[in-house]
Parts: sequence; structure tokens; C-alpha cells
Amino acid sequence: MIYKNYPMVSRVVFGRGSFNQLDEILALKRNGRNAPFIFYVDDVFKDKHWLISRITLSYKDKIIYIPTKEEPKTSQIDQLVEDIILKNSELPSGIIGIGGGIVMDVAKAVALMLTNKGESKDYQGWDLIKHAAIYHVGIPTISGTGAEVSRTTILTGPERKLGINSDYTPFDQVILDPELTKDVPKDQWFYTGMDCFVHCVESLNGTYLNAFSQSYGEKAFELCKEIFLGDTLSTEEAQDQLMMASWHGGMSIAYSQVGIAHAMSYGLGYLLGVKHGLGNCIVFDHLEDYYPDGVALFKQMKAKHNIKLPQGVCANLEDYQFNKMIDVAFSLEPLWENAIGKDWKSIMTREKLLELYKKM
Ligand code: NAD
Ligand code: ZN
Repeated sequence: MIYKNYPMVSRVVFGRGSFNQLDEILALKRNGRNAPFIFYVDDVFKDKHWLISRITLSYKDKIIYIPTKEEPKTSQIDQLVEDIILKNSELPSGIIGIGGGIVMDVAKAVALMLTNKGESKDYQGWDLIKHAAIYHVGIPTISGTGAEVSRTTILTGPERKLGINSDYTPFDQVILDPELTKDVPKDQWFYTGMDCFVHCVESLNGTYLNAFSQSYGEKAFELCKEIFLGDTLSTEEAQDQLMMASWHGGMSIAYSQVGIAHAMSYGLGYLLGVKHGLGNCIVFDHLEDYYPDGVALFKQMKAKHNIKLPQGVCANLEDYQFNKMIDVAFSLEPLWENAIGKDWKSIMTREKLLELYKKM
């Protein structure tokens, strides 16, 4: 038996207002005047002075606003990398991603592709990256995905939606400042928060479960119940707790795997562009046969926060489209093996999956 030798985020700051320490942290990492820091910032913050004014730019440092209507594409990453190379004589001192899963994934992918030749689509998969990334920092502004701790950056390429999974992907530094999440819209708070909840359910009910994953998963699961079903937390406490839940949920799947909701959500994402958090919710709502307790809690959470999920997203699809979604979902073999076991292929047939998609 060979056990995974898992890389982790090297440094992390947690606390309200810790974002103010960014300058100090970066100062130690500057490689000179011609090696700028590039800040990718979710474009929702473009006019948010309270956040932007706290990013100090020196020399050739640059803020680049990233639109988040769509999830990151390999072509977008290649373009961002090319822009940096064309405009600078030296490699940047570091890449900083400030935003949700999208912007953090963009920061990770660009940091990797600055030191690895070719196109990012060629690195979608497991352990294809050959050289260490440049210094990269993740600063979440919404909690749930666990992208701040994971060893992947999820990209949609010409052929597949698949992460660049590597030991070089995790951030060198993370700043967890729950105050940054204060203006997240309610629906989005729920969808991204449920990503964390689903990580826990899929990890805790998977065949890959082990003591490491369980300890993180159980903690995050309890936090989610308190945040989404309890009545005792103040708004600020709930923000703090969700940031910790996201971290722990990410740690839990790091050493196990996600399951059916994620596999099917990738299918929806690839074909219809449904975003990760929302896609998980749409799918998970119909998985009571596979995760009965988790789905029952999910339905309570949905009701408590008065969340109305889109219905009939697959209503008008043609056969070839269902087939494509099924292909994408089934290509994520480790997720199915974790969810159902080694003989998953004999249990989850194309017909069953089709039936599930048709309900959504
Ligand atoms: P997101 O990045 O898609 O952002 C969702 C929305 O919230 C956006 O409109 C954004 O502008 C807004 N937003 C973010 N912070 C805000 C704030 N503080 N105030 C107001 N609005 C704010 O959301 P997400 O759910 O965090 O990320 C989803 C992405 O993460 C997907 O691309 C998915 O593939 C990826 N993901 C990655 C991993 C990983 O391990 N790398 C894990 C799960 C998901
Ligand atoms: Zn997820």
C-alpha cells in the first residue's frame, strides 16, 4: 500500500482584518522592480473602495479584474499568461487571487502556467505539471469551495472540464479574512456554502473514507448544520464559521474524494454552463437514494433560507446532449468509485444516470 504524500498550503493567516497584513506578507517575497505582483480580483470589487484601497501597488504591480459570470477556461488562462509574458521582462514575484473559487483557480492556474511550457489544456489531469509554480496567494471572499486548500484548479477546456491536479497547485499563502465575505448575495452564499456541505456528505459517505478525512469532514459537517440550520450564531460568527467549514471540507476531500453530486454537476457545467455551487444543489436535491440523510438535511436548509432552485434545466435536451453529460460524468471514475465502490459500473448504468438527469 502506497499512501498519498499530500502537499498543503504552507502559510495561513486567519482573522477579521487580516487582509491588512497583505503588504507586509508580500514585501518579503518581492524579487525586484521588474518582477511585479499581479493581483487577480473578482470584478464585483471594481468599485469597492473599502477593499481595493487596501491593495498597495508598487513598481509594475497590476490589478486585473476577472469577470465571474463564467467559470475559467483553459484559453482564458493561456491568454492571461501571454499578457504577463509580453508585458514584463521578468517573471512576476507572485500571483494573488482575491475572490471566490473562480478567481482563486485563475490565480493558481496562471502561477503554474508561467513556469510550465505549452497550453493549460495539456495539463488537465493528474500530476502532469513538471515545474513548481511561481509564488501564489489565495484570498477567498466567499466561503465553501475549499479551493483555498485544494491541490486542483478546475478548468473548462476544449475537450473536458477537469482540474490541473498537482503537488504544485496549492497556494503558498492563504489569507482567511471573514470580513471580506460580508456582501455576498444570499443565494450565492447558499450555493457556495452547500458546495462545502456536499463535500462533507460525499466524503463521509464514500468508500475512500479514512480517519484523516473523517476528522475534517465531521467538523465541517457540524459547522454547516449550525450555520444553515441553527439559530445561535451572529452574522459575523456565521461568516467566521463558514470560512473554517470551507477549509475543513476542502481538507476532508483532499484525502478522500467527492462523489455523485460532483460527477453529475460537472456534466451540467460542461454542457449547460451551470456553475459549480448551483449545479451541486440542483443535482444533490435528487440524490435521496444515495445520500438519504444528507439530502434530507439539505432540503431543510433550502426551506429555512427560502431558496428556490431552478427546475427543468434538462427539460428540453436532446439525446446527444444527455449522452454528452453522461460521458462527462462517467469520465470522473474516482468519484464514482468513492461513492459506490469498485464495482460501480455494474450499479450505476447509463440508463439510471439518464433517469436522474431527466428529473433535473
Ligand atoms: P464564484 O467564484 O463563481 O463567485 C460567485 C459569485 O459570487 C460571483 O458572482 C462573484 O462575483 C460573487 N462574489 C464573490 N465574493 C463576493 C463578495 N465578497 N461580495 C459579493 N459578491 C461576491 O463562486 P464559488 O462558488 O466560490 O466558486 C466556484 C468556482 O470554484 C467554480 O469555477 C468551480 O469550478 C471552482 N471550484 C474549485 C475548487 C478547487 O478545489 N479548486 C473546488 C470547488 C469549486
Ligand atoms: Zn465542490
